[in-house]
Amino acid sequence: MKKIIILGAGLSGLAAATELSVENEVLVLEKNNYIGGLAASFNYKGYEIPFYYHHVFNHDSVTRSFLKRFDDSGLTWKKIKMAILVNNRSYNFTNPLALLSFNYLTFKEKIRYGLFGFYVFYVLNPDKIPQNLDAEKWLKKYAGKGITKKLFHELYAKNKFNISLSEISAKQFAHRLKAKEALGVFGYPRDGLDKFIDNMKNYIEKNKSKILINQNIQEIDLIKKQIKVNNKKIKYDLTINTIPIPEFLKIAKGLPKVYELKLSKIKYCPAVSIVIGTDKFLSNHYWLNVLKEPKLQMIMQHSWLYDNYPEKITWLLRYGGSEEDLGINDDKIFKEYTHSLKKYYPRVNIKWYKVFREKYAEPIYDKNYYLFKPDYKTPIPSLYHAGIQVSYPLIRTMNSALISGLEVAKLIKSSDS
Ligand SMILES: Cc1cc2nc3c(=O)[nH]c(=O)nc-3n(C[C@H](O)[C@H](O)[C@H](O)COP(=O)(O)OP(=O)(O)OC[C@H]3O[C@@H](n4cnc5c(N)ncnc54)[C@H](O)[C@@H]3O)c2cc1C
Repeated sequence: MKKIIILGAGLSGLAAATELSVENEVLVLEKNNYIGGLAASFNYKGYEIPFYYHHVFNHDSVTRSFLKRFDDSGLTWKKIKMAILVNNRSYNFTNPLALLSFNYLTFKEKIRYGLFGFYVFYVLNPDKIPQNLDAEKWLKKYAGKGITKKLFHELYAKNKFNISLSEISAKQFAHRLKAKEALGVFGYPRDGLDKFIDNMKNYIEKNKSKILINQNIQEIDLIKKQIKVNNKKIKYDLTINTIPIPEFLKIAKGLPKVYELKLSKIKYCPAVSIVIGTDKFLSNHYWLNVLKEPKLQMIMQHSWLYDNYPEKITWLLRYGGSEEDLGINDDKIFKEYTHSLKKYYPRVNIKWYKVFREKYAEPIYDKNYYLFKPDYKTPIPSLYHAGIQVSYPLIRTMNSALISGLEVAKLIKSSDS
């Protein structure tokens, strides 16, 4: 039996703990006063609503198996509708025929886009794309210049990572396209996300392991294998890091310099999100991408997926560039984001709102990410990594986070035998 300390009670840390707590003494340390990390929820009038939109893809087999194991209520599944809002018009973007009326593109571009869609769905194998190829070169070749600039620059460079397409990895981008999000049937757990997270916690604690919240980790001494947390020192045999790498580097002592330098190159994209409650839906789309607006980039009408709250629940969201909003007060964020919303939906009646800010929403998968991406194993034998920073080139989902927790646990177990 080993003493294993897991840093962070997000899905990856909890997944690792469910596996390892059976035969080891596991201690999960979480800085917040809640667990679940990016997938956590808040309570509104007795209803649990996630801080950020969350849906489950059909092919998210690991998320589905965790849900089955820790929440027997099952999922509701819906074929969702998608739209693009640009230049004061809303374009349905759900089926191939909708492309015909997508007049944001020229006729020639529409044909090219149709062919590109066919290529992505039926021919493309993202694993065959070279690691160092950038998304701009790849897109210009397969989708053409016009579509690359008008659509993918807006959607994925400006709105997503706020870096140019020439800096983004084509491989990761292709994985994202291959997930066929626009055509998806999406699921959501009938009891929300918090039930399976709570039940994972109960399972871990039943195995005589512990999850502690409100933990201020001051230092991890990797040589002495000792953590200083809330002014107490705790010894460990192994530690698994799932917290964002820049935060980990602030507290880690004893990393080899070259390795530390490599990890310091990892940058993250933030997210700022407003949850709003309205009396009616804005439109019949679940997912709306907003182009060319200064702040608002995405609208997700959660209630199309899961209509179980007193009001319709929607997220107004910004990723790329949202670092400038992290320090801005809620009222100003609300005014700025809804300014764009009201251009498209002037009659929207917002009954309440709540703002969430996340500095580390996703690592920026630029084209060099594969060079400095952390692996599960590290140069320090007692230190492992898991979480969304290790799961590249898979896209950042609950599924990839859970997989990383299972994988790291498997590695640790196999090193025991
Ligand atoms: C806006 C948004 C939308 C998303 N939508 C979807 C979706 O639709 N479908 C889907 O499947 N996935 C979605 N995801 C992704 C999913 O939420 C994540 O991939 C997953 O939750 C990541 O889990 P993790 O454990 O790797 O990281 P995290 O959840 O980030 O966990 C890390 C934990 O470490 C803690 N921590 C940080 N610093 C410290 C410290 N110094 N000491 C102790 N603890 C610390 C954090 O508080 C956190 O609890 C979305 C994410 C975001 C941000």
